[in-house]
Amino acid sequence: MKKLYFITGSQDLYGEETLARVAEDSRVMAEFLSDKLGSVIVEWQPTVRNSEEIYDVCLKATADGECVGVIAWMHTFSPAKMWIRGLKILNKPMLHLHTQANERLPYKTIDMDFMNLNQSAHGDREFGFICARMGIKREVVAGYYRHADILERIRKFADVAVALDFSHTLRVAMFGNNMRDVAVTDGDRVESEIRYGWNVNYYGIGDLAELVESVSKSELAAKMSEYNSAYEMNTSDIKAVEEQAKYEIALNKFFERERIGAFTDTFQDLHGLRQLPGLAVQNIMADGVGFGPEGDYKTSALMAVLCKMAGTRRGATAFIEDYTYDLGLGGELELAAHMLEVSPVFAADKPKIEVHPLGIGGKEPPARLVFDGMGGDAIAVSMVDMGDRFRLICAEIELVPTPEAMPELPVARLMWKIKPDFATGAAAWINAGGAHHAVVSTALDVSDIRLFAKLTDTELIVIDKNTSLPFGA
Ligand code: MN
Repeated sequence: MKKLYFITGSQDLYGEETLARVAEDSRVMAEFLSDKLGSVIVEWQPTVRNSEEIYDVCLKATADGECVGVIAWMHTFSPAKMWIRGLKILNKPMLHLHTQANERLPYKTIDMDFMNLNQSAHGDREFGFICARMGIKREVVAGYYRHADILERIRKFADVAVALDFSHTLRVAMFGNNMRDVAVTDGDRVESEIRYGWNVNYYGIGDLAELVESVSKSELAAKMSEYNSAYEMNTSDIKAVEEQAKYEIALNKFFERERIGAFTDTFQDLHGLRQLPGLAVQNIMADGVGFGPEGDYKTSALMAVLCKMAGTRRGATAFIEDYTYDLGLGGELELAAHMLEVSPVFAADKPKIEVHPLGIGGKEPPARLVFDGMGGDAIAVSMVDMGDRFRLICAEIELVPTPEAMPELPVARLMWKIKPDFATGAAAWINAGGAHHAVVSTALDVSDIRLFAKLTDTELIVIDKNTSLPFGA
C-alpha cells in the first residue's frame, strides 16, 4: 500500500515538554487518518524543528518510491524561512491540513500554555505564505480533522496523489499512429511526458498480429468461457467471437511484456488482423486499462489515470465518444457511443455479444458488446493540446436511461443531458475546444478533476449548473 507522509512543523525554542506533546498529538492524528482512509498508509514522521530536519524529511519523501504525497500541519508556529530549502526539493503532492488537535476551545481552563501549544491558526498562516510565495501547487483543507467532510477531502487528495504517482510511470502503446487528418486527438507527446509522466510510444500492429497467431487452444477456451459467463452470446458466428478473444489474450500478453497501462489503435492500420478489435478492447477497458481509438493517446492515458483515481470507489469510468443528439426542445439528449469500443462498465443490463459488418476499414464483421447505458450523475472530461499548454474541459452531465429501444443500432450506447442545459453546456464545450472523445466517470466529480488540474498545473474549464453564456474561452 502506498503512503502519505504526515509532517508536523514546529521549532526548537518551545522546550522538551511542549515538543513531546506536539509529537504525541500528531501521532494520534496520523494514526486516525491512516485508519479512516484505508486506501493509503498515513505514516507519521518525527516533528521537524529546524531547517536541517525539514530538508531531511522532504528529501526522504522525495526519494521514497512508496510515498505518493505529504500532509503538512503546523501544530505550533514554525518560522517559514526554515522551510524554503526543503520545499525546493520536495517533488511529491502536498496537502496542507489546517486543523487542530482539539476540536473545541476549553473556555474554562484555557491559559497561555494551551494557546501557545495549539496555535495552527498562527503557524499554518506562516506556512501558507511561504507555499504561496514559492508557487507550491498544493491542496489546502481547513477544519477539524475528525469531521466527516474534512476526512472526505483528505480521502480525495489521497486518491489524486495515488493517481499522479501512477501517471508518472504510465507507459502508453500506440498501435499505428493518429487517424489521418484528425486534429484534436493529436498532441505533444514529449510535453505529455514532462508534465504527466506519460511515456507514449509507437508499436507496429504486426507485433500484435504475431502474438495473436500464437494463442493456444486452452487460452482461447478459457477466454471464451469468461465471455460466456459475463455476457449473453447473441450470435451464431462463434469464429468471429474467438477472433476477438485471441486479440484480447494477445493484447494482455503484450501489455505485460512491455509494462503498458494504456493503448490506442486505428482502423487505418490493422495489417495482420481480420477484424477491428471491438469486444477485446471493451473487455480490457473494464479492467481499467486506458484506451483511445484513432490514435488518441491523450484520452487513453487520461482514462487510465482517472480509473486509478476512482480506485475502489463505486461507479464506472471509461472512454466514450460524442456521436448524435435528440434535439427535442427542452429535453435535449446526447447519444454517445463509438464504432465498437464502449466499456461494459456503463451497461445497464447484461451486455450481448453480437457480430455485425463495419462500414469502414474494409475488414471482416467484428464481434462487439451491445447494451444500453446506465443512469446517474457523472462528469465528462476531455484533454486538448492548445499548442502552448494542455487544457482540461470537465462537464457535469446526467446519464439517463435510453428513452426508447434502438433495435437497429448495433453498438453499445450511453445517453446524457449536459448541465446547465443543452444550449449553454454544449455551446460552452464547443467554445472551449472540447474534443469528441472524453472520459466519462460516475465515480469522480469536478472536485477530483480540479485537484488533478491544480497539482499538475493544467488549465481547467468547468461546465456545470452555474455556467452561463456568453462563455469566454
Ligand atoms: Mn472517435
